[in-house]
Amino acid sequence: MKRRKFIKKTSFSKLGLLLITILCSCNTPKEEKKTGTITENQTIRKPLVIATWNTPKAVEAAAKVLEKGGNALDAVEQGCRVEEADPKGQSVGIGGLPDREGHVTLDACIMNDKGDYGAVVAVENIKHVISLARKVMEETPHVLLAGKGAEQFAIEQGFEREDLLTPASKKAWEEWKIKSEYKPIINIENHDTIGMLAIDDEGNISGACTTSGLAYKMAGRVGDSPIIGGGLFVDNEIGGAAATGLGEEVLKTVGSFLIVELMRQGMSPQQACEEAIKRIVEKPNSNYKNFQVGYIAVNKKGEVGAYSIHEWFSYNLYADGENKNIKSDYYIKN
Ligand code: ASP
Repeated sequence: MKRRKFIKKTSFSKLGLLLITILCSCNTPKEEKKTGTITENQTIRKPLVIATWNTPKAVEAAAKVLEKGGNALDAVEQGCRVEEADPKGQSVGIGGLPDREGHVTLDACIMNDKGDYGAVVAVENIKHVISLARKVMEETPHVLLAGKGAEQFAIEQGFEREDLLTPASKKAWEEWKIKSEYKPIINIENHDTIGMLAIDDEGNISGACTTSGLAYKMAGRVGDSPIIGGGLFVDNEIGGAAATGLGEEVLKTVGSFLIVELMRQGMSPQQACEEAIKRIVEKPNSNYKNFQVGYIAVNKKGEVGAYSIHEWFSYNLYADGENKNIKSDYYIKN
């Protein structure tokens, strides 16, 4: 009896709460939310592609997919594949600089507009790790595969095994071995890790990130690029962000996730990128003068932002039918 009374009481109070909520929401005038979320009469700048560094060919490939009515996920995958296939790019795919043991190990991740994510880390002998990350997302119950397991999965999925260490990268590694000094390079203007975000005709956002990681890293080291919220994050309601530079610092501040959350709270993509860099720079004992981190971001309206610690970070933007390389604003001015 007591129990029945209790249940009755709670269900009445729940009902009351529900009524109050409905009444309140009816009476509140519909304010425009201060987030990057799109409201009814706003237009989205689309199709749009933004990618880290000087990556015109990759952005062009992604834009082509979108211009033909393709979706943002296909666009970012196709865009990243261009860089992975270029043996001259020493930070991505074939030709990437190896770890200190001479092994080229690749990291990549991809996110779609449904909030799904797939990634691979420390993969050897497979060039198109961005497509492998997509396979992890779409064909497995997991989100992240590492090393040998990822390579085995790639072969099962029909990927080709190939030697990723080009003569030029082998030579660079052999020269590095003479001193074996480990110093992250501030900028590789032409270019470094590629992080890419796209908005398709439906207004949906996807993102991708692919890298060989820091040159001459310790064997087994994994950076921010393949880690959700670190090198990449997409929330289709709000926008997306991607990172490049010293992955350890990006990971410690969960940079890309932070940027998307700041946009959710009302910041523009530019303000959010600047705040994320500030979090790194203003940490106690931050050694920021000796490393680079750069961010790009886009919100649901197609507004973009970019910011880095040092000068000479740039990004490629395809918008309003034009593909341009744009120099990013930066923190250290003197
Ligand atoms: N963020 C990459 C990493 O830490 C490297 C880079 O962008 O330079 O692996």
